[in-house]
Amino acid sequence: MTDARAMHAITPDTTGTVDVVLDYARRRALWEDVPLDEPKTPDELAAVASGSITDEGIGAQRAIDLFEHVLAPACITTDHPGYLSFIPSAPTKAALSFDLVVSASSIYGGSWLEGSGAVFAENEVLHWLASEFGLPAGAGGVFVQGGTIGNLSALVAARHDARRAREASDEPLPSRWAVVCSSGAHSSIASAAAVMDVDVLTAETDAEGRLRGDAVRAVLAERGQDVFAVVATGGTTNLGIVDDIASVGEAARAHGIWFHVDGAYGLAAMLVERTRPLFRGVELADSLVVDPHKWLFAPFDACALIYREPAKARAAHTQKAEYLDHLTDKPDWNPSDLAVQLTRRSRGLPLWFSLATHGTAHYRAAIDAGIVLAADIADEIRRRPEVSLVHEPQLSVVVFRREGWALADYQAWSDRLLAEQHAFVVPSSHNGEPVLRFAIISPMTTIELLRDILDSLV
Ligand SMILES: *Cc1c(COP(=O)(O)O)cnc(C)c1O
Repeated sequence: MTDARAMHAITPDTTGTVDVVLDYARRRALWEDVPLDEPKTPDELAAVASGSITDEGIGAQRAIDLFEHVLAPACITTDHPGYLSFIPSAPTKAALSFDLVVSASSIYGGSWLEGSGAVFAENEVLHWLASEFGLPAGAGGVFVQGGTIGNLSALVAARHDARRAREASDEPLPSRWAVVCSSGAHSSIASAAAVMDVDVLTAETDAEGRLRGDAVRAVLAERGQDVFAVVATGGTTNLGIVDDIASVGEAARAHGIWFHVDGAYGLAAMLVERTRPLFRGVELADSLVVDPHKWLFAPFDACALIYREPAKARAAHTQKAEYLDHLTDKPDWNPSDLAVQLTRRSRGLPLWFSLATHGTAHYRAAIDAGIVLAADIADEIRRRPEVSLVHEPQLSVVVFRREGWALADYQAWSDRLLAEQHAFVVPSSHNGEPVLRFAIISPMTTIELLRDILDSLV
């Protein structure tokens, strides 16, 4: 007979398991020069890694060995200084190690009743961010999985609020609700619109790719009756372009429409003096998101979703069920009630711990370093004849082309760079043209490394 308690009781076996795991985690967290590693095919992995799920179990040591030597090397190290694709990650040692504590503590982060200490600490961070972004004292929110869920949750709250306002004033509801954003808005806005079954109205951008209030007004003049939210992007993912947030927010306000700022990647740059002025108008937001797992040096996954009036989010999102009445009938601050979710990990705690440990000045300096590095490598690109900038970097994304190259050349070069374990830079595209893109997040990324990469393009 298998003992039902064998996995849970504290015995030499379970202690050994915890030790094996923490020992590996410690080595991994403190590993200098972690290799980039690279993906394997399903067949390659099946040949060396299948068969781990058995009736009797293979034991902690064999399982961790399999992970360390076979599975982990088949995962690209997203916090490697040479990982410059998509948006990299660069968690602080404090944040990533505290993530283990979150797991070890079995905290339920959805309700005040169950997780008040954790919720309080997360709220400390959310309130600090809200005040940096110029939101009023009543603002608050929740850490959700990522910008995608943050944007969806904010837009669901926005539509709920618009519907409630129409119904209260006996105005007709539109046959199709719609959200306004620019063509540079993140794909998650279209994804949210698809989930919500609403239309996306794309407003024109200016010559620099920025959404401005006049373009929003033009769209609202045509279909304003249907629009429940206007979205500005605080740092587009591909080019790092910050919309003219103030004029967009004013246009939304003038029509009494919910204003959402998607700052999943870029809004962190508002914490820095150098780039803060770019974000003028964020204080007008009814809701906003910024991803700590992007430029606030927290591990995957965390998005800070903040509302100007959290009560509006609560009205849209609180789940009603008999077994939950005990929670939802109270005036408590329940993070679950503010987004599309119920059970939640206290995923804001790693950022809380790291911020508390290091202080905000270190964060500002680390963000600023990425902006300076992006400007420096842009200068370097300007000096080299074989490459040219596609766009002046505003934040820490640098997009450029290799003159004379087609997509196949970019792809072959990118594959070689990874195969040599030098860097991970995948081709992107802009207006149909294949381009290269450095997304700089890690303070460990150096100008020398970026110059080396440029050298390999000659
Ligand atoms: C990354 C990003 C998102 C999506 O965030 P996830 O955390 O990946 O879900 C949304 N908007 C912008 C502007 C982003 O850069």
